[in-house]
Amino acid sequence: MSEVQDQNLNSDHLDLKHLDKKTEELLVKKAGEAKEYSYSPYSGFRVGAALLTKSGRIYTGCNIENAAYTPTNCAERTAVFKAVSEGEREFRAIAVCGDAEEYLAPCGVCRQVLLEFTEPEKFVVLMAAKSCEYRKMTLAELLPASFSKSDLSAASDGKN
Ligand SMILES: [Zn+2]
Repeated sequence: MSEVQDQNLNSDHLDLKHLDKKTEELLVKKAGEAKEYSYSPYSGFRVGAALLTKSGRIYTGCNIENAAYTPTNCAERTAVFKAVSEGEREFRAIAVCGDAEEYLAPCGVCRQVLLEFTEPEKFVVLMAAKSCEYRKMTLAELLPASFSKSDLSAASDGKN
């Protein structure tokens, strides 16, 4: 875990959808560093992620593969689970960086996990290429027509 340098990040009044360029580049850099810890002997596809909390902290993660394949965990979920396990539940942005030449997008499972702890219209996903160039989308753009806890609470208000 590391603290973001820019103290302005601790303000809740910032427009969450628009991170400053410096913060975006820092997240991409941290994701690239986390990629170095990737345990990916089966795919050989290294991925790193850096998750920014609303409190201004950054949690990193890497993909962790397993000989049984199914227990494999993505970099994004590693970062989310690290953060949640340390008391963080509100997130602003995540950067994802892999060895691919193209911009790397989170898989569907990670999008669903991110949805649990974010405001999808405001949560920013920075998808980086190997070159560290990146494109930016919100989680709502990446996961439209999603199923979330609000759907469950709507159901519990009904017949069950
Ligand atoms: Zn994933």
